[in-house]
Amino acid sequence: MIIVMERNASPKLVDSVTARLEQLGFKVHLSVGVERTIIGVIGEKRPEYMEQLAAMAGVESIVPILRPFKLASREFHPEPTKVQVGNVTIGGEEIVVMAGPCAVESEEQILTIARKIKAAGAQILRGGAFKPRTSPYSFQGLEEEGLKLLALAREETGLPVVTEVVNPRDIELVEKYADMLQVGARNMQNFTLLREIGQSKKPVLLKRGLAATVEEWLMAAEYIISGGNSNVVLCERGIRTYETGTRNTLDLSAVPAVKHYSHLPIIADPSHGTGRWRYVKPMAKAAIAAGADGLMIEVHCRPEEALSDGAQSLTPDNFRQLMAEIKAVAEAVGRKSTEPVVV
Ligand code: PEP
Ligand code: MN
Repeated sequence: MIIVMERNASPKLVDSVTARLEQLGFKVHLSVGVERTIIGVIGEKRPEYMEQLAAMAGVESIVPILRPFKLASREFHPEPTKVQVGNVTIGGEEIVVMAGPCAVESEEQILTIARKIKAAGAQILRGGAFKPRTSPYSFQGLEEEGLKLLALAREETGLPVVTEVVNPRDIELVEKYADMLQVGARNMQNFTLLREIGQSKKPVLLKRGLAATVEEWLMAAEYIISGGNSNVVLCERGIRTYETGTRNTLDLSAVPAVKHYSHLPIIADPSHGTGRWRYVKPMAKAAIAAGADGLMIEVHCRPEEALSDGAQSLTPDNFRQLMAEIKAVAEAVGRKSTEPVVV
């Protein structure tokens, strides 16, 4: 349930309500909005407690949250959440583009791509160091060496870095180098990983599972938020359907659905969503038109030589074009996008 405090209820009144809740054994999550404070309350609701709480000074109403996700719900947090990744804000007016190779392959590869995507206007560098591959015989990533190269690329370009953490035992290591932790589609319901990441101070990019409903996805976010980390950004990356013309089916209707049910920012990944570089630009534009807060785009200088996901990777030139084209779409829907750097 949530306790809606009266408009302008003093911090002292909020404190006395939260103290009482804790005394009654509830877990309390505060959401201090511009308009008013909302207290998220998790625990067994006894009718006598409800009456006592409703009688407290400063309490306007007590509202049950009927959906299974609570802290991720709009009811709990009516205003959209903004997530800070280094100096970049996701969920504000500006569209945030994360770009880079599927996998970090070498120093030359990641530094060249990082410079090029930055020049084209991307705000965050992506690159996998731990790769969850379908085949155990495929390239599995450079692991810590890859993380070091990402950190080097950040030093060079100033771009914050997002990279996937596959295993709970690697969280500490990845946190050392990355600005944002990515949970991959295959791990969306790895509840041990989600719980551990809930204890991290780093923002999280939570990709949608290959066959997950929006509700299951928001329940995965709930694991992270209830663990103490509310800096979660969702990423629609396509789901499995009967369609074989594309690698996955990019479910852009999930964008307005998530915005309706949740306060969390959502970005779209048309690279994994389509699996083909030719379809990436149109679907990137469609995602922005649908209200996505950003994009994740795979970029490689020589896609034909990429160690993973070459077929869906844009060249830097194509990426630059994409950035120019999404600018017009962003403006048409009342958003802004970063200008390419003129050299
Ligand atoms: C990736 O971002 O490279 C990746 C493996 O994505 P997903 O988990 O969505 O398949
Ligand atoms: Mn990939």
